[in-house]
Amino acid sequence: MAEEKDEVLETQSADGAEIRDTDIVFDCPHCSKTLVIDYRGAGLQISCSECGKDVLVPIPDGMELTDLDMDPGEILKQLFATRRNYQKAETRVQGLKARLVSLQETLAVMQQVIAEGLADE
Ligand SMILES: [Zn+2]
Repeated sequence: MAEEKDEVLETQSADGAEIRDTDIVFDCPHCSKTLVIDYRGAGLQISCSECGKDVLVPIPDGMELTDLDMDPGEILKQLFATRRNYQKAETRVQGLKARLVSLQETLAVMQQVIAEGLADE
C-alpha cells in the first residue's frame, strides 16, 4: 500500500457536512472531537484536526487494509481463505473444548482425592 499520507490527512468536522458512505467517522481518543476521514485512511496515523495529537484511524468492520489494492477476484480468494481458516479454527476450538472437559474431569478427581486425603488426617 502506497504512502499517501498527505491525501488522507484532511479531516472534516461532522457538522461540516459532506460525509460520504465510504468515509470513516470516529471520535478522537484524546479530545473526543468527531473526525471524518476517507476510507483510504483506515489504519493510518493522522493528526487530530482539533488537538493535533496522533490518532490511529480505525479500520471498519469487515474491511482489510489490503482490500484497497485488490481486484474483486483477489478479494473473493481472500474471503474463501478466511472461511477456510475460520473452519480450521472452529475445529480447533472443538478439540480444545473436549480437552477442557477432560481436564475438568481430571481436576474433579484430584479434588476428590485431596478431600479424602484431608479427611483421613
Ligand atoms: Zn483530538
